[in-house]
Amino acid sequence: MRARLPMLLAALAASTCAHAAQTLQLQGTLTGKDHQHYLELPFAVPDSTGRVDVTLQHDGSDERTVVDLGLLDAQGFRGWSGGSRRTISVSRYDASGGYLPGAIPAGQWKVLLGVPNIRARVQTPYNVSVTLWSEDEVQAGRDRKPLLLRDEAAWYRGDLHMHSTHSDGSCSSQQGNKVACPLFLSLQAAVRQGLDFVAVTEHNTISHLDELARHQPWFDRLLLIPGMEVTTFQGHANVFGVNGPLPFRLGDTLPNWNPLLREVNNSGALLSINHPALPSGEDCMGCGWTPAKPVDMAAVGAVEVVNARQADGPRSGVDFWEQQLQQGRRMTAIGGSDSHNPGAADGPSPIGLPATLVHATALSREAILAAIRQGRVVVDVDNVAASGLELWLQGDAGTRAEMGQQLDLPAGQWATLHTQLDYPRRLKIEFVVDGRRHPTTVEIDANGSQRASLRWRSDGQRHWLRVDARDADGSLRMLGNPVYVNWPQ
Ligand SMILES: [Zn+2]
Ligand SMILES: [Zn+2]
Repeated sequence: MRARLPMLLAALAASTCAHAAQTLQLQGTLTGKDHQHYLELPFAVPDSTGRVDVTLQHDGSDERTVVDLGLLDAQGFRGWSGGSRRTISVSRYDASGGYLPGAIPAGQWKVLLGVPNIRARVQTPYNVSVTLWSEDEVQAGRDRKPLLLRDEAAWYRGDLHMHSTHSDGSCSSQQGNKVACPLFLSLQAAVRQGLDFVAVTEHNTISHLDELARHQPWFDRLLLIPGMEVTTFQGHANVFGVNGPLPFRLGDTLPNWNPLLREVNNSGALLSINHPALPSGEDCMGCGWTPAKPVDMAAVGAVEVVNARQADGPRSGVDFWEQQLQQGRRMTAIGGSDSHNPGAADGPSPIGLPATLVHATALSREAILAAIRQGRVVVDVDNVAASGLELWLQGDAGTRAEMGQQLDLPAGQWATLHTQLDYPRRLKIEFVVDGRRHPTTVEIDANGSQRASLRWRSDGQRHWLRVDARDADGSLRMLGNPVYVNWPQ
């Protein structure tokens, strides 16, 4: 085995890609002399680099030239993928199969090429493209290629809250012992529940980012959203769309929630207050929402109104959320199973119960988070509805708004609030206008859908109008987000 420096044309170029920091091209030509040898292609990694992407190109396959790929960082071995991959990536938090995630030390790195085969008189030009992303770009998610699993507008069904071995998830081992539960089992449980997306929200850590990135190609119908449950002594909040660690030491290194909220929103992520009505104290330390300092609630994107199956009663988050709406703070109601055990389908919080149904333009992280922000979102407590319930406000003057949208209605104008839902059994429908409940008559249309409507007259002020669907015993089964009237944009 010998290492030789090939003739390199190393060009440092500002990439034309809007997202890329800098790209190096390492070029050369393999000949018969390289047969069954290794080549090292050195390149410099500057300080504060957050990710290194490497792509190998050559067109010698027709002549049976085979080139293996590996990577050495400034301190030694970083990974090897042989002939299985032409593109690999390493960052502090994740890496391609065969490569180690971890710190990106500055200094001289080397792309390692192995040549299992090249014929004696063949010449095979190659090009190795190395893209270096800064730590800031990684933390902001600009290094990430958007992933689109489905390109159509639809109701997508997900679970936005769960834990695995990366925090306190546990389940039974092969021999029935309680062990930290592999993340893969949570994802398989989500598939069994018919979900389209999940957010994996571990307590104060992002050690699952690597595993999610490795699992996503296999789960090509289940969108995996990296999350983190910011778990403080003064409340819990899920952040959806994390790219790196977030501050959580509230009252210590984090003076209050507001710097975290700014960081989350600047990076395109979304923060949701979790289970705000759970108790705090020795029953459940830090679980209830009890911030010691004022919180910029306008920066909060969502509230988990149904945690596990706690849709009704004192542990429901609906009252907390509606109080925020009454104060003019627009935030989206969502649900989350808070599953800590994917194997316990009959346990206290199975994955997918409740489901959060999101009407998004596509099945991608960006589209799902945008739709949650927008608010066309329904909580389906038992994950049995055929789709999200529809809600729309039809003004007599011809204007119209769907759930999550805003309508200007001058004083004196009449409108009709409509709802339609498809559910396996008949439910009671209750409109909610500014927190006041309006039970109504349900009709079944020709398609078997349940429909109801409410006439409503605007007084020109700000209002929110939404709908709940309940069982005969009054228990909440589906919760819809509002249509907003005369609401500042
Ligand atoms: Zn929690
Ligand atoms: Zn949790």
